[in-house]
Amino acid sequence: MSRREIRDALGAARALVREWSEEGLERWERPDAGASVETPAAGLGADAPGLAQVREILGDCTRCAIHRERTQIVFGDGAPDDDLMFVGEGPGQQEDLRGIPFCGRAGELLTRMIEQGLEIPRSSVYICNIVKCRPPGNRTPLPDEVTACRGFLDGQIAAVRPKVLVTLGKPAASTLLGRYVAITRLRGTWQEYRGIPLMPTLHPAYLLRQYTPENRRNVWQDLKSALARTRR
Ligand code: SF4
Repeated sequence: MSRREIRDALGAARALVREWSEEGLERWERPDAGASVETPAAGLGADAPGLAQVREILGDCTRCAIHRERTQIVFGDGAPDDDLMFVGEGPGQQEDLRGIPFCGRAGELLTRMIEQGLEIPRSSVYICNIVKCRPPGNRTPLPDEVTACRGFLDGQIAAVRPKVLVTLGKPAASTLLGRYVAITRLRGTWQEYRGIPLMPTLHPAYLLRQYTPENRRNVWQDLKSALARTRR
């Protein structure tokens, strides 16, 4: 990370903390990035803000440049107490139009994997992205965009307090693990995010492009492991 990126990241983080404090959310104490804690509840705080509060603070966000080209913010989908939480990269065209994460072709595949594969309703898992606005042309979000939006992803995780996180694709895994990862090597191996078990797997859009029996089997295995861990 360059000095400028570090300075920008620190500035964005300070602004967010100031904003939260002004909104009366200063009691939400977060551990240092990467800190290991015993349980999600201990790590994220039983008094973390709810999803509605996080959404309210996000408001009609213009904190990074991609707001200029969005149709609407795509915050998240699911209940605030879901055990399984999926984190993807960013909204695509359909998501931008409908305001729902993972509702396009890749989303339909994810929904099938959840409902027909895991045999649980999609409404029983929480789904969101690392950035809440569609990057132009569906490009990967830039580091400053991820940084600007990061506090809201952390807020969603703190509010939902999932038993297991599943990251979809490289950008989501890299963002939550704080390092660039090779997703095809890392997938299927248990990681941890602030005390929450994290299963990295392939993005359904990648799976659509590389619809091989091996990739399908791998993702299926990852999702089964994640669901089983929520039931331990
Ligand atoms: Fe705000 Fe996130 Fe959208 Fe950027 S991507 S404008 S930080 S909501």
